[in-house]
Amino acid sequence: MKEVHNTEIAAIQYYENAVSIKQKDYVKLQCHCVLCNTQLELKYEKLDCFEIKELASCPQCQIRTRTKAYPLN
Ligand SMILES: [Zn+2]
Repeated sequence: MKEVHNTEIAAIQYYENAVSIKQKDYVKLQCHCVLCNTQLELKYEKLDCFEIKELASCPQCQIRTRTKAYPLN
């Protein structure tokens, strides 16, 4: 799906700018559904200048696997 692909690129670009390679590997591990191993749809919402909210959901199971807020520093 085109939309998923775009979201993925946005996520990768975000992480490349924000974190180290080691952390990016960790992120990769977190990018698949624990139930069916489908690549998760990741969405990021900027809460304010200091925090980003991450929403991950599986397009296959239709479950939201996590909602997390990251501080930007
Ligand atoms: Zn799934």
